[in-house]
Amino acid sequence: MVGGGSTPQPGEISLAHHGVLFLDELPEFNRRSLESLRQPLEEGVVTISRAAHSTTFPADFVLIAAMNPCPCGFLGDPKHKCKCAPIAVEKYMGRISGPLLDRIDLHIEVPPVPFEDLSKPGDGTGSASMRDQVYKAREIQLKRFGKGAGKLNGRMTSRQIRTHCKLDAEGQATLKEAMEALGLSARAHDRILRVARTVADLAGSDAITQDHVAEAIGYRALDRKLWAS
Ligand SMILES: [Zn+2]
Repeated sequence: MVGGGSTPQPGEISLAHHGVLFLDELPEFNRRSLESLRQPLEEGVVTISRAAHSTTFPADFVLIAAMNPCPCGFLGDPKHKCKCAPIAVEKYMGRISGPLLDRIDLHIEVPPVPFEDLSKPGDGTGSASMRDQVYKAREIQLKRFGKGAGKLNGRMTSRQIRTHCKLDAEGQATLKEAMEALGLSARAHDRILRVARTVADLAGSDAITQDHVAEAIGYRALDRKLWAS
């Protein structure tokens, strides 16, 4: 996945540079491959070290991954009974390490869709208006970091987070409460602020409000789950 060989060759993550890397059934990947995603997710590059020398390849990609709630896939399904022993569910979830999870900004639970709803027209935001919203939010971000920098919120440094993600007292209190309740790391804290900044940008708001912070925390479903188990 990250590349390798005696003469280092780029792997899937470098082939996905400036694109999307989709990993279906995330817990089925071997732990070492998953852990090796940590550096590239943080830095946008991957370094492959060999005895003689090391090579760095670009690897700035969007990671999208899917997983079941348990090995049989029915945990939490209102219509089917999950047959997994609690220990099996724990083992399955445990294949995704905390440090890897920390580096994934948005975790979303997708409940099963009843058959009769599959053909119904959706009443959510349409793709066209969603695209407009995203374009506008990107414009705001490109301007924020200076034309030509080509930088978006997701790559803000800690210093930039302190400058651009100031919270009011309510937002601060909400974040503190979540940090303590979920036992979040400093890294997750910074990531929540980056996401909250983006939520505010999507809403066209200069200030990050308590609602924006709460929404960003809401996207950490797996932290909440691991904490609950
Ligand atoms: Zn199950």
